[in-house]
Amino acid sequence: MHEPVFRGNEKKYLNECIDSTYVSSVGKFVDQFEIKIAEYTGADKAVVCVNGTNALHLALILAGVKRDDEVITQPLTFIATANAIAYSGAHPVFLDVDRETLGLSPDALSEFLKTSTVLTSTGCYNKITKRRISACVPMHTFGHPCRIDQIVTICNQYNIEVIEDAAESLGSFYKGRHTGIYGNIGVLSFNGNKILTTGGGGMLLFKNEELAKRAKHLTTQAKVPHAWEFRHDEVGYNYRMPNLNAALGLAQLEQLKSFVQIKRRIADEYSNFFSGTEIEFIKEPLDSESNYWLNSILLKDKKERDAFLKFSNEHGVMTRPAWELISRLPMFSNAQRGDVTNSEWIADRLVNLPSSVIPEK
Ligand SMILES: *Cc1c(COP(=O)(O)O)cnc(C)c1O
Repeated sequence: MHEPVFRGNEKKYLNECIDSTYVSSVGKFVDQFEIKIAEYTGADKAVVCVNGTNALHLALILAGVKRDDEVITQPLTFIATANAIAYSGAHPVFLDVDRETLGLSPDALSEFLKTSTVLTSTGCYNKITKRRISACVPMHTFGHPCRIDQIVTICNQYNIEVIEDAAESLGSFYKGRHTGIYGNIGVLSFNGNKILTTGGGGMLLFKNEELAKRAKHLTTQAKVPHAWEFRHDEVGYNYRMPNLNAALGLAQLEQLKSFVQIKRRIADEYSNFFSGTEIEFIKEPLDSESNYWLNSILLKDKKERDAFLKFSNEHGVMTRPAWELISRLPMFSNAQRGDVTNSEWIADRLVNLPSSVIPEK
């Protein structure tokens, strides 16, 4: 569904990287990759990570999420979003998505916070569990931006930190600004199937330089910088992306604009193909410009969806359903949730279509 394309300076930079012997976690490609991603997205600072999942984990720690806090997210997302919440010792609360954006619904969020929480001087607390709700992690599903500005406004009113899971939305803009820079921290992924790949990798996006500095510190085992001494001042992590991966990423980033253009052209072709049929092609939401990372359609019901999946896969076209809702998985089945009707409706009907960037010959 997503073949990576290596048609730029990938081999050149990788060779340069090997020749320099700086293949590990320090090197010029790491620095350049961070600078270029910050430039492209409009973040004040960007900090590399080994993958998107641990970038999310670190983002939660940086946002001040503590053991036994609660973190709001959507059930229609890749498992990494919920796993990262579990790593931080917090409990996810699943709220519904919008039918139009496939991302967290500001209406569902606002309704839940109004009816189910109390706001005190130390934060927002869940009335039933008495736990603090410290963060909210909306996700831009398949590259389509959710109504992130409203989500941020609501969370600000309740003293809740917003971490944007923008793992799928590099190259997607909402109201003219890149996704991942609306919240205090944004997270990107460069896994092999994402729009741009470093083999495996992730990135944290920040507005706040102090927070970025702390991210760099925590990803490098919390080592106090010194020419020869090895001293660490808190429990840190080995979450740094190696220079080798950043070299690949930098070469890929140079082609991002053309990748997005090609993706949008493929989306146009699908859109034309399905127009006038009973199958709905999912278009970019209002006020947004999507990278169309993963093209999707909606079938009439689950039965038709399954028939479509069976037919296409048996005929050599790989298609797949949306993720099983996280709230339905055994390890999160006891988690709190709101009314998740839209998420269920979408999960029963949605099919993802092949979306590889096909380069011009
Ligand atoms: C890909 C992805 C991640 C991070 O994945 P990694 O493979 O760890 O880089 C996180 N959230 C979502 C929604 C994703 O699609």
